[in-house]
Amino acid sequence: MRSHSQPISRLFDDPDDHLNVLVNCSFELVEEDGSLRGWHVAEGRAGRVARGDGHAMRLMGRVLSNRFEMSARVPYEWTGEAKGHLTGIVHMIESDRYLRSESFEHQSDGWEPFSWRFLPPPNAERAECELVAGDALVDGLCLDGLGSWDYEILDSQAGYHPRGSKRVIVRSREPVEGEVRWELFDTLRGQTYAEGMLEETGRDIWSRWTWIADLTACEREGNYLLRVYMPDRIVESGPIIIWRGVYEHLAYMVARYSYLQRCGVGIPGYHRPCHTNDALCRVTEQGEHYGEIEEYRDVTGGWHDAGDYNKWFHYYGYVLEALALVHKRLDLPRSTYGDPLPDVLSEVFWGADFFLRVQNPDGSFIGPVHGWYTHEDPETGRRWNSQWAIFWEKPHEDSGGGEVMNPRSRNFDYTSHDRPELILDFATALATAARCARGTDDRRRWTYANASLRSVAYLEGRSDPGIPAHPYWITLWYDLYKSTDRGEYRDRVDELVPAILSLQGDDGSFGRPTGLKHAFHHVTVLLELLVDEPDHPQRDEILSAVERNLEWMKPHTTGVPYDLVLQCIEGTPPGAVNSRTLGSNAWIGNAAYVYALAGRVTGRTEWLHRAEDQVAWLLGRNPHGVCQVVDAGRVHPGRYHGWTNWNENDLHGSLTGGIINGIQVVDDLYLRDNSPSWSTMPPLFPILSVRREDVPYSDHLIANARHDSNEYWSLHHAAFHQAMSALAAAYGELEVPERPRACYLYSNEGGYECATRCDGLFRICGWDVDRVASDTRYPHFDPRAYEAIVVDRSWAGGEYIDAESLGITVRHSFLLGVPWILLPPDDPGCLEWLEGVSSGLVPYGKIDRPGGKWVPCEHGRTRRIHESTVYLVEDEEGLSRLLREMRR
Ligand SMILES: [Zn+2]
Repeated sequence: MRSHSQPISRLFDDPDDHLNVLVNCSFELVEEDGSLRGWHVAEGRAGRVARGDGHAMRLMGRVLSNRFEMSARVPYEWTGEAKGHLTGIVHMIESDRYLRSESFEHQSDGWEPFSWRFLPPPNAERAECELVAGDALVDGLCLDGLGSWDYEILDSQAGYHPRGSKRVIVRSREPVEGEVRWELFDTLRGQTYAEGMLEETGRDIWSRWTWIADLTACEREGNYLLRVYMPDRIVESGPIIIWRGVYEHLAYMVARYSYLQRCGVGIPGYHRPCHTNDALCRVTEQGEHYGEIEEYRDVTGGWHDAGDYNKWFHYYGYVLEALALVHKRLDLPRSTYGDPLPDVLSEVFWGADFFLRVQNPDGSFIGPVHGWYTHEDPETGRRWNSQWAIFWEKPHEDSGGGEVMNPRSRNFDYTSHDRPELILDFATALATAARCARGTDDRRRWTYANASLRSVAYLEGRSDPGIPAHPYWITLWYDLYKSTDRGEYRDRVDELVPAILSLQGDDGSFGRPTGLKHAFHHVTVLLELLVDEPDHPQRDEILSAVERNLEWMKPHTTGVPYDLVLQCIEGTPPGAVNSRTLGSNAWIGNAAYVYALAGRVTGRTEWLHRAEDQVAWLLGRNPHGVCQVVDAGRVHPGRYHGWTNWNENDLHGSLTGGIINGIQVVDDLYLRDNSPSWSTMPPLFPILSVRREDVPYSDHLIANARHDSNEYWSLHHAAFHQAMSALAAAYGELEVPERPRACYLYSNEGGYECATRCDGLFRICGWDVDRVASDTRYPHFDPRAYEAIVVDRSWAGGEYIDAESLGITVRHSFLLGVPWILLPPDDPGCLEWLEGVSSGLVPYGKIDRPGGKWVPCEHGRTRRIHESTVYLVEDEEGLSRLLREMRR
């Protein structure tokens, strides 16, 4: 197979300008050296004629393009110029199944441009174009596969944290003159909340002009709409949500993905029970007994891995660590999985219980659990098992000469996990699970800790390079210490810290540790240690190593507007996008994690913001405007590569919380006729493909298996998950937990405007606020939760209601001594209401009407009602002074 740089699509114009070539649709046939040989004539004739300084095509017949890859979810535009009568046809294809065609007509006496737009169906994977003419001239063909929208707004579709980075990208297909204004419209209040000018960020590699609308300073929670005032029209975004819970929400949602991938049981709404009899071990030595069943061992449980039905549990250590981090760092108490434990903890135990099953008595582990498929080499007679062949458990994927076994018959082998870094990884996961079990389940705590130590003993009996100073050890010993309180484990950590730090190179990089985790692993284990022990004696050394590591990464980014951290590969120029630098989403999640964690430990918000720029790429701020985390955004790829596409056992069609491989640069090649090559993708062009089909596994090469784009994978999931736990925890700490909280009573007649009138004031005074509207039917609020109850000037009592339910709460607050602050009532009804409501039934009896009367004070007037001090302040200024004073 050959692949060469062939930008194409601009027929005859400037074949070297790939800037405006967004999908590699080509009518040209090219020689190996890149020179034009002609075009694919299906019928009649096509010839080259002079036009101006260049050339055009004279068509008397039918020409066909190559078969090219379609991008996800974008309307295409096919443009060009023609003279005469021309028909254009687009053939849309799913895998090798013809879906439909769409055709267009052009008719002109002179040269005229044409623009044909079409939206492929969601299952279109590839297409071919065709041109038909009796006698016409054609020139300047271009098929724009990134959308025919004139303007686009690309944002993080799950929303933004109030303190987070909120840089929304605006794109245009054409240059725009002059300054462009944006406004952030508050859809609850019906008012403009903020406005500003777009920052110009140049033309991106997808050939669009880009700007940033920086909403970072907008910190008020709410629902918004971004409006951009382009010279020719107003462009509006989808809903933009600013809310505190965004990262907890995403952490929980992504944790759910593991639950949905549980194997051996049914998951309501997702899949029926599967693999309830894993697994059979077969003889793998050559010989007459090859493939015979040797042993049955109960290794049910665990998780599927990449939306497939295999248990590639070499990834589970990472998944378990990511889940455990969520459990350790956040409080997500929801229990919906059918046991009384919090869901995330239940998932940690589910994973750790599986590790117990696959651990051998000596502390090593068995290999992956997967289908069994025998290949036989016809010449030598050698046989081997190809787990790939029935990756999806489709028996018909026989790529020749194989014997297909019952796909539910599972295999494991003893050998493939006898790799020290994997054993260490699993031992670490077990230590972490032991730590999580502490305080909840002592049987599990000791079982996991002992299992972990068993694997440690196994490793210590060997001498494997790269293992003694492996960063996993820090987590392993520290979590064993946390689960058992044994000081000697803690000492091990202190011995390891200098050893890990000494691995840092002069350029600040650490290199990749052996195993499956990421290049930042040295730094993240040390940072997590600082989260546990902020006063660690080597804090300064660790933080300086972190600083140098992040400094080293800095030049490796795409720059504005995407600010995506690229893989720092030796020998590639910093900032260059290619198939080695634009990593899969796991890489992007890893980068987000290290920045988020560094930001958390140091309190540097610019690092948190950098993390959020990475996360935004996954959540929709990318050239396709597609959210790559399933069900987390508004627009999704629409189709995923996974067993959901194949298996009758699937009930849902996608895996909520799953994260796909992502937008990738792939050097793919689709050959036709074995004749001159048709490259399907321009080199260096990142694409989000929705193909579900792999190439046959017999031809399996990473470079051409097109699940490159839309297959989920545990590693992406784990990386993103770690970033979410770090971001949520970081903002949780930045929130300053000692902020007092007020309950704000307001009249519903004034609407949301009334409810939020004092928001700025509360924020400036350092108070958080909850609200109770006068039309709330059941306004039970717990007065114990508040440092003050503030009554808006509009309040004249509850309007709906069972007045008594509010009355009990109010009276209770007077018994508890919670201060009340009233803005001067426009309606004296408010004061009357207070008189009336402060006596009557309380939770433990009845109280009388309050005595006392209003007396002047420095804030206005004050009065004692039962145990509480009540203030009637003069105005908002008075309220502000009082709130500040109460804070002190
Ligand atoms: Zn299963």
